[in-house]
Amino acid sequence: MLPPLSERIALGVFPTPLSPLRRLSEHLGGPSIWIKRDDLSGLALGGNKVRKLEYLLQNALTEGADTLITAGAIQSNHCRQTAAAAASLGLECHLVLGGYAPPLLQGNLLLDSLFGAHLHFAGSKRKGEDIPALAESLIAAGKRPYVVPYGGSNKLGALGFANALVELCRQTQEPFSHIVFASSSGGTHAGLLAAAKWMALPTQILGIRIDKEENNGSPFQQQLLSLSQDVLTDLEPLANLSAEDIVLNEDYLGQGYGVMGEPEQEAISLMASLEGILLDPVYTGRAMAGLLDLVQKGHFSAEDKILFWHTGGAPAIFAYADEWAANRHL
Ligand SMILES: *Cc1c(COP(=O)(O)O)cnc(C)c1O
Repeated sequence: MLPPLSERIALGVFPTPLSPLRRLSEHLGGPSIWIKRDDLSGLALGGNKVRKLEYLLQNALTEGADTLITAGAIQSNHCRQTAAAAASLGLECHLVLGGYAPPLLQGNLLLDSLFGAHLHFAGSKRKGEDIPALAESLIAAGKRPYVVPYGGSNKLGALGFANALVELCRQTQEPFSHIVFASSSGGTHAGLLAAAKWMALPTQILGIRIDKEENNGSPFQQQLLSLSQDVLTDLEPLANLSAEDIVLNEDYLGQGYGVMGEPEQEAISLMASLEGILLDPVYTGRAMAGLLDLVQKGHFSAEDKILFWHTGGAPAIFAYADEWAANRHL
């Protein structure tokens, strides 16, 4: 089986570890649960975005870019990993961040500034609405900017996750019945789904939706389908996906994007205390809270073999320290 053929530049440490969550599985008394550790993917405290950036930044270099621009929420892991990759490649980096300059740099934002990124605060526009104007002003100043899409989620970025599934298949003989993960800008979901179809795996690709706002107007399911189809067409030109192939659970959106509630805190505490593994307040804490709830509701059978794909994000924990203390009555 060949991995996707587009060129990529090495930025992360692969393969990431695959291991059973023995104590968590025993605690829950349900199916066996395993974890794929993309939190250990190497670049700047890890995370899933490095798989996408390996393809995207190869493309940026091929096009002769000297400057990267991308966007995200104020605690964006994607922005932090992009800033680190830019530093390592000697590229200038501009981040268009939602929200306003806080009095104290914390979590991912602190790391963005350590990597030397230029920070542009965009208020309520956290999905890169200001990027075209910024790109124009950089071009006028003689730069050659390359826009990394929101979350790194275009076809090229999603190829990183098609390749990730190939990597997983090389690590295990017996396929998983389900792969559960946080789905937000869609590239992770699309890459995994396209590759599962391509390899005809008997594995359900089960995304837990994190952010109920759309990135570009069209319904998220529709974006997922078209992105997955684009990746699949690259792998196997005549293969097709349909709307039924998209499995997206929307039951765990909580109080909205980036708001840490009780379920996220409980999931983070449980994984930390049973497994010594850190989840994050925005993505993996929410996705694991969803997985725990589904197990407790009897959604899976005892014979199922579940993979939780850890997509990173732990630096954001520190930006939520105040809320944590308040909620725990410390
Ligand atoms: C970006 C991100 C996700 C979501 O991945 P998408 O490809 O954007 O859907 C999940 N977890 C973490 C920690 C992330 O930073």
